[in-house]
Amino acid sequence: MNKKKYYDERTGKLITDELILEMIRLEEKIPNDLRFPFMTNKLSGSREPHKTQWMSSYFVFRIAKPTPTDEECKGYYQRINVDSADDINRFRGALIGCAIGDALGTTVEFKEPGSFPPLTDIVGGGPFNLKAGEWTDDTSMMYCLAHSLIRTKQCDLKDQMDLYCKWWQDGVFSATGKCFDIGNTVVSALKRYQQTGDPLSGDTTPMSAGNGSLMRIAPIPIRYFNSFENTIKYAALSSMTTHGAIEAVDACRYFSGLMWGALHGISKDELLDGLYTPIDEYWEQNPLCDSVLKLIKEEQYKNKKAKDIRASGYVMHTLEAVLWAFFHSDSFETGALLAVNLGEDADTTGAIYGQLAGAYYGERVIDFRWVRKIKESHCFYLKAEELKDIIISERAI
Ligand SMILES: [Mg+2]
Repeated sequence: MNKKKYYDERTGKLITDELILEMIRLEEKIPNDLRFPFMTNKLSGSREPHKTQWMSSYFVFRIAKPTPTDEECKGYYQRINVDSADDINRFRGALIGCAIGDALGTTVEFKEPGSFPPLTDIVGGGPFNLKAGEWTDDTSMMYCLAHSLIRTKQCDLKDQMDLYCKWWQDGVFSATGKCFDIGNTVVSALKRYQQTGDPLSGDTTPMSAGNGSLMRIAPIPIRYFNSFENTIKYAALSSMTTHGAIEAVDACRYFSGLMWGALHGISKDELLDGLYTPIDEYWEQNPLCDSVLKLIKEEQYKNKKAKDIRASGYVMHTLEAVLWAFFHSDSFETGALLAVNLGEDADTTGAIYGQLAGAYYGERVIDFRWVRKIKESHCFYLKAEELKDIIISERAI
């Protein structure tokens, strides 16, 4: 009898019995707490309602009305009795914003600016041949960091590195079930960590100042929402696990402070007027390196055109590209398109922009036609809620 042949739609390879057994072996290696949870118990078969149970009706509302006003959307949250506070709105925005910018940009990753028709939507494809809404290493690492901050309730660097290794080697928290892209700086740091056990394994040479630690930063300013100083301190440490170069560390320190302000509802004018800080003299007493200072204080990005902006993997380029897109737009979507259409490291520029802009504009006004395309979108809402639970428990002490 002729057996019907099946092919992997992504790689085009013939699916053999050995391949299926290998997939089952890989699946079994992953414990339940390192899998994406189901959105509702309709899918899991459990009798217990899931934390994101409410999202099935929320999805119906937002699919019918993808771009409600902020007030309309807030009113809906109140009607279904789900946390409608502005803080969680900004936490949700920052996390889903990362995945959106990443999924949008992956299509034109590595492309020269101007060499492709400008993107207007999340369409997938790109160097990893992803489906529309699948995201890359940026969001996987951000998700690992969020998961670690939640399960340890603190900034446990070893735990963060353990999760990054699980993603790298077992495909945990990947949109496709595999780690299909990973930066050189990250991989060397993870190898070093596995050899030495020292979580502060990031290369410190100036040439290694890539954007790989900045691209995952959002969970830090959310977790330390109660303290600007802790946000900056732990942003630096979390960078140093994989990226120890001073520019990479200081880009994370500055940007996490900026995100902290955005999460607290500070206006764009105030955020981008020199070095944002809620504490007088903070940056004088805890200075940043010269290149970050120059970029922020001279504000040249405010007068630049797209052709003058580079969006390479060098963290100073990425930081400028993100600030440029944020400054020159007045909605999440227009800025995201400005960011990714710079090409080059488009998914990472998009992911970092998405974290800042998502925090600033909030989830309620992000076009739901993009949100619903995102793979495992409900998990980003869940992480926002779990991070808020920790913040609240600390306030109660
Ligand atoms: Mg990527």
